[in-house]
Amino acid sequence: MLTGGVGGARFLRGLVDAVDPAGVTAIVNVGDDVEVLGLAVSPDLDSVLYALAGLADDERGWGRAEETWNALATVESLGGEAWFRLGDRDLGLHLVRTQALRAGKPLSTVTAALTASLGLETAILPATDEPLRTWLDTPNGSFPFQEWFVARSHRDPVDRVRFEGAVEARPAPGVLDALHEADLILIAPSNPFVSIGPVLAVERIRSALERRRVPCVAVSPLIGGRAVKGPAASMLMRLNGGTSAAHVTQCYVGLIDALVIDEADAADVDAVSALGVRPIVTRTLMRNAAARRQLAEAALDAVALA
Ligand code: GDP
Ligand code: CA
Repeated sequence: MLTGGVGGARFLRGLVDAVDPAGVTAIVNVGDDVEVLGLAVSPDLDSVLYALAGLADDERGWGRAEETWNALATVESLGGEAWFRLGDRDLGLHLVRTQALRAGKPLSTVTAALTASLGLETAILPATDEPLRTWLDTPNGSFPFQEWFVARSHRDPVDRVRFEGAVEARPAPGVLDALHEADLILIAPSNPFVSIGPVLAVERIRSALERRRVPCVAVSPLIGGRAVKGPAASMLMRLNGGTSAAHVTQCYVGLIDALVIDEADAADVDAVSALGVRPIVTRTLMRNAAARRQLAEAALDAVALA
C-alpha cells in the first residue's frame, strides 16, 4: 500500500484488521520530512507507526495520545524554534531516529528497528532512503512542505508541487520487491498531490505501478467532492480543475484499475469509467474500526470482482 500520514494510516488500520498484518507492506511518503531543532522528523512514517501501534491520538488526528508539551514550552520560553508541534512522547522517537541516522544508518533500517520495537508485523518502508523533499510553488513564493502546511496553515493556493531530489532518488530496499511480489497494490485515501505524489515521483516506483501485473486499487480521499480534512479538495480544484471523483482519477490514470469512491460521489461513476478506471461505490468515512475495516474490504473485493 502506498500511503501518506493520517488518512492513509486510518485505512491501513482497517486493512490489517481485514488481512494478515504480516502480509502488508506500507510504502510511505517522505516528502514531508523535516529537520526541527536538529531532529529528523518523518511525520508520515510516524503517523503510520503510531496508528498501527495503537499510540495515535485519534481525536487530535496526529501525534501521540496522552501527549504533553513540556519540552516545546521550554523551547518557546527560550526563544527557540517552536512552530512545529513536537510533543514530549513524540520527541523520544525523534531522538532515537536522529541518533541512528547520524550514526550512518539508512532511514529504512531505522524505521525497521522502530517497527520491531513497537511489536508490529507490518513492514513499514520509506519510499526512499535518499532526501526527497516536497516544495509548493504559490503566488506568495515557494515553500518547503511543512512551512506551507504547518507554519502557513496551507492557505497559499498551490500552482505547482515539486519534489526536490526525486530524479536521483532510488526506492528504499524492499520497496520494489514488495510491489513485484504483491497480489494487490493499494493507494490509500491520502492526498494525491502531496502524500502519494512524492512516492510516485520516485521513477522506479512509478514504473513498477505502470508495469504491474496485479490490480491496483486507490481509495478517494474526497467525500461529496470535499476533503475529510486538509487541502486535497482545494488542490484538486486549482490543479485539476474540479473535485469530482473523475478529477481524483486523473491523478492516477495509467496507474490504477479501480477507484473506491463514496456514495456521495456516485453520480461521478460514468466519468470515472470513461477514464478507464472501474468505480467502486461504498461508504468511505472511516469514523470507527468497523468503518475502516469495511472500507478495506471494499477495496479488497474490487479484486475479487475484477
Ligand atoms: P497526511 O499525510 O497526514 O496529511 O495524511 P494523508 O495524506 O494520508 O491523508 C489526508 C487525506 O485523508 C485527506 O485528503 C482526507 O480527505 C483523507 N481522509 C481522512 N479521513 C478520511 C476518511 O475517513 N475517509 C476518506 N475517504 N478520506 C479520508
Ligand atoms: Ca503527510
